[in-house]
Order: sequence, then C-alpha cells, then structure tokens
Amino acid sequence: MNLVLFGPPGSGKGTQAKILQEKRGLPQLSTGDMLRAAIAAGTDLGKRCKAIMESGDLVPDEIVIGIIAERYDQPDCAKGAVFDGFPRTIPQAEALDAMLKARRKKIDIVIELKVDDAVLISRVEQRIKDSGGGARADDRPETLQNRLAVYYRNTAPLIEYYKKQGKLVTVDGMAPIDGVSRDIEAVLDRAGRRGCVGV
Ligand code: ADP
Repeated sequence: MNLVLFGPPGSGKGTQAKILQEKRGLPQLSTGDMLRAAIAAGTDLGKRCKAIMESGDLVPDEIVIGIIAERYDQPDCAKGAVFDGFPRTIPQAEALDAMLKARRKKIDIVIELKVDDAVLISRVEQRIKDSGGGARADDRPETLQNRLAVYYRNTAPLIEYYKKQGKLVTVDGMAPIDGVSRDIEAVLDRAGRRGCVGV
C-alpha cells in the first residue's frame, strides 16, 4: 500500500506516519526528515536547502522529487510506503503519480489530517517550549506563519487533486493521538475491504 499523509505543519503527519510504520511495517518517507539529515551531514543538497527551510518556504520541486525517487527504490519500500510531507505542490503530486506508474504502483489512499489554525499554532508553540532551546530551526512563531501561508497557497490545492482521483479521506486531526490513529486504521481497514490492492 502506498499512502499519503497530508495536512498543514503541526497536524501530526510525522507522529501518525511513525505509528503506521510500526503497525503496518510501511516505511515513513518524510522529505522534511531527509532534508534535515542532508543539512546535518553538510551535503551540497543540504547547503542548498538550509536557508529555504529556515524561512519556511518550499525547496525546489526537483530536489524533493529526486530524493523521494531514490528513497522509494530502496528494498524496504517493496510493499509500499507512507509519504509524509510529500507531495506539497501539484507538480510534486504529478511527479509522484508518474514515478509510481513507471513502477506499476499507485497511491492507494490519501489521508488528510484536518486541524484548525489556532490549534496548529499552539501545538508548534508547545513543541518549541518542550524542546528546551533545541527547537527545529523552522519552529519559530514568525516562520510558522509563513509555513501556514505556503501550505494554503501551494499544498492545499492537492485536496482537490486527490478528491478528483477519489482517493481523499479526511480525518479529524484534533482528536488525541491514539484516537487519530484509530480513525486512520479504520479508514485503511475499510479501504482494504473495498479491495484496494495491497491495503
Ligand atoms: P512540517 O510539516 O512540520 O512543516 P516538514 O518536516 O515536513 O515539516 O518540512 C519542513 C520543511 O522542509 C518545509 O517547510 C520545507 O521547507 C521543506 N520540505 C519538506 N518537504 C518538502 C516538499 N515535499 N517540498 C518542498 N519542500 C519541502
């Protein structure tokens, strides 16, 4: 099964992707984590992305499309993957569809985690407090505003893109973590009974 976890910054995509990885053995493919790893390792790619990420803007499509394709071809993705934080633009979604099609695969389901802006802002503020000074470089109140604006401008149009494909399911991302993960499991079980290949 190939699954996209979709939602604004702070909606819990990373948390739920990790739970899915544990429960279903589907690797979490987080472009944010991959980019942060590249920055930490000081690679050329990391150097190109550092300032962009710190401002809350999106790194160029071709960069994330490239790292996702390379990661997807690793053997642990043979049974599928959970895409977390990718795609974030229409060209990325089109590239993902084309990449999977070339491998005779497809996105089976897209789960949108719906969370109100006020809750997103307070979650990220809490994350900053909890980090004790070691917060992510882009977890700053000013940057969060830009990340939200970028989400609504560039990423939210994907809701329509996946609705048209009949793949979008919306889950209440404001429930407690285990409630959200139960809802996601229920969605996947229903999709499995409907006969989505490999779910
Ligand atoms: P969050 O969803 O909490 O904002 P991520 O870890 O997914 O955090 O992403 C952090 C940053 O990494 C983004 O603000 C962006 O700069 C960059 N990034 C991650 N994924 C992508 C992507 N698919 N396309 C472009 N930029 C990305």
